[in-house]
Amino acid sequence: MEWSESVFDGRRREMVEGLRRSGIMNARVLEAFLEVRRHLFFPESEREHAYDDAAWPIGHGQTISQPYTVAYMTSLLADRVPSGKVLEVGTGSGYQSAILDAMGYRVFTIERVLPLYSDALGRFRRFALPVAAKLGDGSEGWPEEAPFNAVLVTAAAPKEPEALLRQLSDNGCLVIPLGGMDVQQMTVITRRGEVFLRERYHEFAFVPLIGREGWEEEQEQS
Ligand code: SAM
Repeated sequence: MEWSESVFDGRRREMVEGLRRSGIMNARVLEAFLEVRRHLFFPESEREHAYDDAAWPIGHGQTISQPYTVAYMTSLLADRVPSGKVLEVGTGSGYQSAILDAMGYRVFTIERVLPLYSDALGRFRRFALPVAAKLGDGSEGWPEEAPFNAVLVTAAAPKEPEALLRQLSDNGCLVIPLGGMDVQQMTVITRRGEVFLRERYHEFAFVPLIGREGWEEEQEQS
């Protein structure tokens, strides 16, 4: 089969129908999923799998998240915060950033693994996406650009990163999978002044946030 743009377009429409059937209701999220060409965020030789509802390896032990997971997290964010500045922790392929950009957010994203950061930055430039990207430990946030209307963490965190809570604007929210290595609970933390309200949702399985030691190992290898 030849994987032309029109074949990818058809597969993308099917993926969005699948998301709708799985309970993703937010129209802005579904529109962004129709618009952003997920195959361009995939390893080139594996693009035929880009519209499977599955996480996929992108190298360095990391993955581009399953479309359902991206849509679920993005809906939690968009249902609470319609516009403004969003910080994503865990750039990976850049796909989640592109979805947020398509929805009209001003996007900032941080990645810890140098080759993934470089590849994602290359994509943002190639596709003229106005996403601000930084290499570093996302659990420290991006203090120079704070406050953020929302923060989205796309890797599993053992506990709430204090710095990210501090960088939320009033009424801003943090969407984060919290828990152990195997399973985490999707959690939304909303800031009301100095009070932080917590809501807990379904369980997911993410790759872990890399700690400081992990970061140093990555740097030595790259
Ligand atoms: N959002 C990504 C996408 O759309 O492709 C997928 C994210 S992947 C599940 C998790 C990403 O978080 C990996 O790229 C990983 O290198 C990155 N990561 C892990 N720990 C991190 C940290 N402390 N700071 C920034 N990025 C981190």
